[in-house]
Amino acid sequence: MTTLANYRDHLAEMRKLNSAASLLGWDQQTHMPPKAGPHRAQVIGKLSRMVFELSISDELGGFLADLRKDDGLSQLEKASVRKVGKDYDRNCAVPPEFVEQFQIAQSEAQAAWIAARKANDFASFQPHLEKVVEFARRLAEYYGYKDHPYDALLEDYEPGMTCKQLRAIIEPLKRDLVPFLRKLATDGTPPDRSLLGGSFDPDALRRLSRRALGFIHYDFEAGALDDVAHPFTATIGPGDVRITNRYPTDSPIPSLLGALHEGGHALYNQGFPEELYTLGLAGGSSNGIHESQSRMIENQVGRSRAFWQFFQPVLAEHFPQFATGSPEALYRAVNVVEPSLIRVEADEVTYNLHIMLRFEIEAGLIEGSIAVADLPERWNQAMKDYLGIVPPNDAQGVLQDVHWSMGYVGYFPSYMLGNLYAAQMLPKIRKDLPTLDADIRRGDMRPLLGWLRENVHRHGATYEPNELIERITGHPLDPAHFVRYVKEKYSDIYGL
Ligand code: ZN
Repeated sequence: MTTLANYRDHLAEMRKLNSAASLLGWDQQTHMPPKAGPHRAQVIGKLSRMVFELSISDELGGFLADLRKDDGLSQLEKASVRKVGKDYDRNCAVPPEFVEQFQIAQSEAQAAWIAARKANDFASFQPHLEKVVEFARRLAEYYGYKDHPYDALLEDYEPGMTCKQLRAIIEPLKRDLVPFLRKLATDGTPPDRSLLGGSFDPDALRRLSRRALGFIHYDFEAGALDDVAHPFTATIGPGDVRITNRYPTDSPIPSLLGALHEGGHALYNQGFPEELYTLGLAGGSSNGIHESQSRMIENQVGRSRAFWQFFQPVLAEHFPQFATGSPEALYRAVNVVEPSLIRVEADEVTYNLHIMLRFEIEAGLIEGSIAVADLPERWNQAMKDYLGIVPPNDAQGVLQDVHWSMGYVGYFPSYMLGNLYAAQMLPKIRKDLPTLDADIRRGDMRPLLGWLRENVHRHGATYEPNELIERITGHPLDPAHFVRYVKEKYSDIYGL
């Protein structure tokens, strides 16, 4: 057998184990009986270790060394060697004892975080977070970096992105968004969202989610929709990309937009050609590009005027009280902008501000310019500066997110980048699909889906995000697109 064939076989072995681990992880969140927890953790742990061992094996190292010298590879094969090789180098750079100690510190920090958030007690979490930050800094040293240790960590989530590049994006964004938010609050007329309130049957909400997923052409023959406490999308393998959702009963909107959000992630993963699976390229280009696909369907589609012109009668089929309202009133009601304490509840305008303050804090923690002990104060000051509100307690402030306790440092920017990538793709989509709004108004998502398949989905992880966005739009990531998008949309809604 050729090296390439052996290499593909090796990746196939990793893929099968990953697939089993994903399925067990999905089951853990959706159907697993509570008492199965400890055993399940052992089984998933075992599978993860097996995958990790294959990912740093000498055998794989040998294949990569040969293939890196091979001039006869196709574009896709080259992309595969680049990506798998990068993961190999990074995984090999970290001593196994360090990985194990970091994992222990993470599980202890997570338990401490749950208790600290419940008790609103940052001080009890502080020593754990200090430990996690110390581990993250050591991890950055193992990985290595050119400019900033944060870059080494960012690479896990947003390959090729740097701290410097993020700062260059965030500064102008902040200068535009903060005053615009103030202007909406002082000069704008907020929409009435009381029409969305009431009490809604969860079964009807579930049917509505399925209907919305049908509208975006989520393939139920290659997926499933299940209930869960914290929604996510699980890719088990080719032909199996599952969505989860939850159904709060006081409004139809969170579950509807939640279905569209996870549906956007799932469309991406259902759109990977099978060839990518065999080359280790069946994944998003980055977390940020993945988030751009979910935000595109949730916001650019689900929070658009055209969508509500189509969807109002659909909503009314499930909930007759909406039969008499106007699509315009619904469109406005789902687009209220309001500074809020909690990131996951934030609207399109304020969301990125929540991310900026997290990025500034975590970059400061990694470079050592901010101490963990100062976090509550830094957090509250930034909330005041950016959003004009101050959390009444740390549970609703610095303790709200699970990420840092899990050792995820460098993850948050992906959420913001997703919004920016989506906003930059939109003008290009409109240029290529001049009838986009009319199509959506008729309930026809095929043209948009076709565009996303062609430009984003079919490439999987072949291109890194900087390269992909430039290929699609002709220039590097530029936050001006997002600023233009929110200013146009919300000046109209708020009558500025
Ligand atoms: Zn998402």
